Amino acid sequence: MSAIDEVLEKNQVFAGEYQDRDAPRPPRKRLAVVACMDSRLDIYEILGLEEGDAHVIRNAGGIVADDVIRSLIISQRIGGTREVMIIHNTECGMLTFKDADLEKQVAHEQGHEAPFAFGAFSDLDEQVRRDVEQVRTNRSSGTETPCAGLSTTSAPAGSGRC
Ligand SMILES: [Zn+2]
Repeated sequence: MSAIDEVLEKNQVFAGEYQDRDAPRPPRKRLAVVACMDSRLDIYEILGLEEGDAHVIRNAGGIVADDVIRSLIISQRIGGTREVMIIHNTECGMLTFKDADLEKQVAHEQGHEAPFAFGAFSDLDEQVRRDVEQVRTNRSSGTETPCAGLSTTSAPAGSGRC
């Protein structure tokens, strides 16, 4: 059984037992979290959040790429969020490769270059600071937005608030 078949089967059980939890669409805490897609990071658990508390925007590394800015604009203007939290993790896969190497691999396998940077990084805390600054200085995402960064394993290991 493929992973997709397995999760679809579990979703059938979920759908059959689902009861409306009455969570509001605008996040209760008016918080948006940008986090790495690492499967070991349970953002709700790490931050003590409950369903309906926050928007969670995830990608490889939790970096503030263009699509994260797009999501933050929607989160703030349509979803009413007012604060942003950036979360990167200490054993992040983005620390394990160089953009140039992956670019070469993709070009070799696909026959063309990827039309974007992969965003690998070598200094986790510096990347957190860079992404916090990216949110703070992006004119489209709300420069008055309080934003904090956190590098974490499975529990908060340190934070830098801007
Ligand atoms: Zn990661």
